[in-house]
Amino acid sequence: MEKLTIKDVDLKGKKVLMRVDFNVPLDKETGKVSDDTRIRAALPTIKYALDQGAKVILMSHLGRPKGQKIPEYSLKPVAERLSELLGIEVKMAPDLVGPEVKKMVEELKDGEVLLLENTRFHPGETKNDPELAKELASYADIHVNDAFGTAHRAHASNVGVAQYIPSVAGFLMEKEISALGKVVENPEKPFAVIMGGAKVSDKIGVIENLLEKADTFLIGGAMMFTFWKALGYKTGNSLVEDDKLDLAKELLEKAKNKGVDFVVPVDAVIAQEMKAGVEKKVVTMEEGVPEGWMGLDIGPKTIELFKDKLKNAKTVVWNGPMGVFEIDDFAKGTEEIAKYLAQLDAMVVVGGGDSAAAINKFGLENEVTHVSTGGGASLEFLEGKELPGVKSIADKGKKKRRLMIAGNWKMNKTNSEAEAFARKITQLTGGSDEKVEVTLCPPFTALPVVVEVVRGTQITVGAQNMYPEDSGAFTGEVSPLMLKDIDVDYVIIGHSERRKYFKEDDEFINRKLKAALKHGLTPILCVGEVLEEREKNLTFCVLENQLRRDLDEIEANDVQKIVIAYEPVWAIGTGKVATPAQAQEAIRFIRELLAEMYSEEVSEKVRILYGGSINPDNFLGIIVQPDIDGGLVGGASLKESFAKLVEIARKIAL
Ligand code: AMP
Repeated sequence: MEKLTIKDVDLKGKKVLMRVDFNVPLDKETGKVSDDTRIRAALPTIKYALDQGAKVILMSHLGRPKGQKIPEYSLKPVAERLSELLGIEVKMAPDLVGPEVKKMVEELKDGEVLLLENTRFHPGETKNDPELAKELASYADIHVNDAFGTAHRAHASNVGVAQYIPSVAGFLMEKEISALGKVVENPEKPFAVIMGGAKVSDKIGVIENLLEKADTFLIGGAMMFTFWKALGYKTGNSLVEDDKLDLAKELLEKAKNKGVDFVVPVDAVIAQEMKAGVEKKVVTMEEGVPEGWMGLDIGPKTIELFKDKLKNAKTVVWNGPMGVFEIDDFAKGTEEIAKYLAQLDAMVVVGGGDSAAAINKFGLENEVTHVSTGGGASLEFLEGKELPGVKSIADKGKKKRRLMIAGNWKMNKTNSEAEAFARKITQLTGGSDEKVEVTLCPPFTALPVVVEVVRGTQITVGAQNMYPEDSGAFTGEVSPLMLKDIDVDYVIIGHSERRKYFKEDDEFINRKLKAALKHGLTPILCVGEVLEEREKNLTFCVLENQLRRDLDEIEANDVQKIVIAYEPVWAIGTGKVATPAQAQEAIRFIRELLAEMYSEEVSEKVRILYGGSINPDNFLGIIVQPDIDGGLVGGASLKESFAKLVEIARKIAL
């Protein structure tokens, strides 16, 4: 699951909206930050963005103000601490959104930092309110998500904004995704899982998911007693979940059937109270825990047994302490396992919450591969769930089809200009490659010269129009035969300007498509709605009408060759660009319609481009959408910025 990271994007001069986790403890008396670990953890990502010349706008929640502006939850003390750590002034916004904040954002210079006020001062944050998300997104060009701890929640500041601007991972997020992703998706074997902590019920999902992948499963913590009881042993006053006994039996049975070595402790340290300094003893599983006593740690034989079971492991996931590690008398099991893992030659991932606190207590956090910072988020990740705050980050290299960046030059450039410009683009892009096809569509007059310039570069060439007859008395027209004869590959058909100014209708477009296909020219078919139609909610209806008529009697075999370009007419040459979500929604609709008209297989093959005011600043958000396979570019195709679009596409292609 590779995601786009802050390193994959150009940040120079850009406004970067960064979601970090500054949910830090504050000193009750002084109001200052009492533990700045989380602020320090975010520094590498913030510094990187500043070094790249970005304007950094930071967002975080702090505590649970539940949608109210409660001064004690203000992030002001964080701004002060962050200023000290960065050695530059961190400006503090009076709110999360609003005219004053907007003004501060607009006045921000390259290399400056602005911290917005607590995201949870607004009820829209936890509701993932689109209006709030849109407003936040309007402040920036790009969103950086570095808050893994909230990744299991779909909030406006982490997930909502990604509907409007592209979201990429910060360094902390990248590390979490890569470590947890590796153990969940592709652990090196033998793979051992150690589960502990208070309750089986909190971790059923994780156990069930990892049972599918692990070779060895070691159970400690209070949850071991639910297994003891399920196996018929005495548990005294230990913490047992009586309603989970059947589940424990099921899990033991499941493990057996799957050939997983599921190990329940053979002894335990017990006491009469959960307190330091009380009398304690060790009992075996067979002896069980007597009435009036409770199990508070794994016993010495179990520690040795667990070490033996772990010795060959190449991957280990550890979630939950082995005992009540907060009290030294019952910390030995947790400490011994932590120390053993620290020296093991294996990928060791410690999953969140209390096991992270435990490993920190013994000062071993740097001796393992990864200690996850997320509690709920890491549990859900280990359960195999797709976290909304990870899903919303743009995927890298997950494109199903080869991308196409096609430049429609329209009625621009004389032959000498066309020749020079085609040369420039060839040089800047280095031609097409297996990931991204570069296509130039000059006016008719410049086709031969452009074809010559790009020969041998894999750059393809398209015409902007043609007449659907081979030859004849059609004054002023150009036939598919003529285009084919000069080695043209594509032809744009049904562009909105032709539909509007030259009154081309769907029947005529259908004839052109058939004629192009007959001669081995690949059509780039344009469809799209006008503003009035969008405002009346007729977008899908218009697209369906156009496609059904344009593709009438065209067979599956031919359709899968066609490139379709969705060009909302209101976004062409107007500077208005569809939001990534609008573009994806329409293009998804087209893909589903093709599946219905032909088949899923055919629909999955067709490349569908977006067109309409694309430029290097808005393109990333568009191209990361799962169903969008490239762009049909107007204005920006006449300038060198066209090569920038190719560069952006290459970063996320295949
Ligand atoms: P969790 O958040 O589920 O990982 O649970 C961690 C908590 O479980 C820690 O506070 C431990 O003190 C507690 N714990 C571990 N072992 C036991 C036990 N045998 N009896 C009671 N609590 C335990």
